[in-house]
Amino acid sequence: MAVTLFANGKFFTTQEGDGKEHDARFDGCMLVENGMIEYVGSDDADIRALAASKGAEIRDLNGSHVLPGFIDGHVHALLLGQSLQRLNLERCQSLPEIRETIKTYAAAHPDAPRILCGGWMEFMTDGKADVSMLDDLDPRPIYIVSRDLHSCWCSTTAIKEMGLESAPDPVGGTIHRDAQGKALGLLSEAACTLLVWPHLAQIASPEERVGAMRDALQALHAVGCTGCVEMAMDDIGWDALQTLRAEMGGQLPLHIAAHWLIRPTDSTDGDSEELTRAIALSQQFNASTSPDFRIVGIKIMCDGVVDSCTAALIEPYSTTGMTTDPIWTPEALGAVVRKADRAGLQCALHAIGDAAAKLAIDALSEHGTPGRRHRIEHLELTSPGDGARLAAAGITASIQPAHADPVLLKAWPELMGTARCGRAFAYGDFAASGANISIGSDSPTAPWDVLRNLYTATTRRSVRDQDYQTVMNPEFALSLCQAMQGATRGSAYSCFAEGWTGSLAKGLQANFAVVKMEWTPQSLLQAQVQETWYKGKKVYDAARTA
Ligand SMILES: [Zn+2]
Repeated sequence: MAVTLFANGKFFTTQEGDGKEHDARFDGCMLVENGMIEYVGSDDADIRALAASKGAEIRDLNGSHVLPGFIDGHVHALLLGQSLQRLNLERCQSLPEIRETIKTYAAAHPDAPRILCGGWMEFMTDGKADVSMLDDLDPRPIYIVSRDLHSCWCSTTAIKEMGLESAPDPVGGTIHRDAQGKALGLLSEAACTLLVWPHLAQIASPEERVGAMRDALQALHAVGCTGCVEMAMDDIGWDALQTLRAEMGGQLPLHIAAHWLIRPTDSTDGDSEELTRAIALSQQFNASTSPDFRIVGIKIMCDGVVDSCTAALIEPYSTTGMTTDPIWTPEALGAVVRKADRAGLQCALHAIGDAAAKLAIDALSEHGTPGRRHRIEHLELTSPGDGARLAAAGITASIQPAHADPVLLKAWPELMGTARCGRAFAYGDFAASGANISIGSDSPTAPWDVLRNLYTATTRRSVRDQDYQTVMNPEFALSLCQAMQGATRGSAYSCFAEGWTGSLAKGLQANFAVVKMEWTPQSLLQAQVQETWYKGKKVYDAARTA
C-alpha cells in the first residue's frame, strides 16, 4: 500500500512533559506507510534510502509546520452541523436589527417549516426576550438560540409546537412566565438544553441530521481536526452518526469518543434511564470493538453559565447578592458518578462556577476509581488549590479558550467583582499543578477554529475584537507548546487514545495537519491549515476548497 515521505516540514514532536517554556521541538521528515507513522526524525541519507527502497512518494511541504491532528476535546457535533444551517444573528446589535434580519430571511425562505436562528446574546435586546417581540414577524414558529446555547427565545407558535404552554420547569431550568403563568417565550438552562435542543434535533428529518453531521465533520477537518470528544450525545445524535458511518462504508473520517448526556435528577439511588443506556452502548462501542467510534462516558451539567447568573458560585453574585446552587446535590451526583465509574464509564462534569467546581472535584475524588480519567468541563472560575486537587485525583481539566475571549467577559467584573475575576480561566495554574489539559471548542457555542482558540489560550487576548486591549489574567496563559499539546495529546489522553493518536511518533496513526504558520502565539491568527490527514489519507485540502 501507499508509502509517503513527507519532507521539508517542521514536524512537532515535543514530548509529554516538555514545553513548559517556549521551546518546541521539531523534526525534519515523516514516513507514512499504510496509514501509520513509520518514522519521524531528521531527514538524512538513511531515511531517504529506506523510503526509496519502499518506493515511497515524496511530498515536499515547503517548510510548513506539521502538527498532530487536533482533537476537539469538547464539541457538540450534531448541534454544530445544525448551527451551520441556521440564520446567524451574531452580527446584530439591537432588536430592530434582529427583526429586520429575520424578516428578510423569512421572505427568502417561504418553504421552510420554521425559522431557526442562532448567535443571539442577551445584551443585543437589553436583556429582554419575549414572544411579543417576535409574534408579528411570521406565523411560523421562530426559535432563536443564544450564542452560548443555554437559552432560547421563541415565538408563541414555537412554545405551542413544543407543548410548553403549561409544562412544569425541568430540574435546573426555567420556562419564564408572567404573573398569570403564560409562557413569555424565554427558556433558560435545562429548559433549553433538555427541551429545546432535543426538540430541534428531533424535528429535523433523519436525512437533515445526517447532513448536519456530515457538515460538522467537514467543518472540523477544515480546522485540522482528526478527532473529537462529543460532549452531549443522545439517541438522535448517535443514530445520525451511525447512519453516516454506514453510508461511509463503516468508517468515519474522524475518530469520535462520546459522552452520553444524563438529565439532572434529585434521586440519590443513582438510577437513570440515560445512564443505563450509556452503559449498554459502551459495552457495544468501546476501545476493543471500535476504538475510533466509542461511548466513553457520561456528561452531567452541574451548573449553568456566569452571564445569566446560573453558574454556581461560592460567594453571592455582586449584582444580585444571591448565590445559585449547583443543579445536583452532592448525594445525587455522587450516586450517579459511582454507578457510572463502576461500569467503567468516564464522567465529564460541566462546572463553570467555583461552587460547581468544588462539587465536581469532591464527587470525582470521593467516588471515582483512580486511573478512570474523569474530567471537568469549563472550569471558568476556580479556587486556589483546585489545580492541585485536579492533578491529585487524575481529573482532566477540559478547557475551551474561546469562552475566555475578553470581549465576552465585559459583564464579569460587575457580576462577581474584580478580585474573583482575577481567578478566572486559571489554565496556567491547572497545567503547573500537573493536571492533564484537554483543549476543546464547545462548538457551536463558540468558534471551533483550533489555532484561533489557541491564540486566546496563549495570549489571553480577544480573537473576536482584535483591537480590544484587555488581556484576561495573563499570568494564567499557557505556553504555545502547552496549548498545542492540550489540543492534541492532552485530548487523546483524556479519552484513552494516546496509544494510537495525538502525537507524531512511530507506531501511531498518521493523523496530522499541515499548517502554514509562524511558531509564536501572536501570529496564530494568521496561521492557515493547508491539509488535514486521517489514517494516512488526505481528508481536507484548502487548495481544493478555496
Ligand atoms: Zn458543551
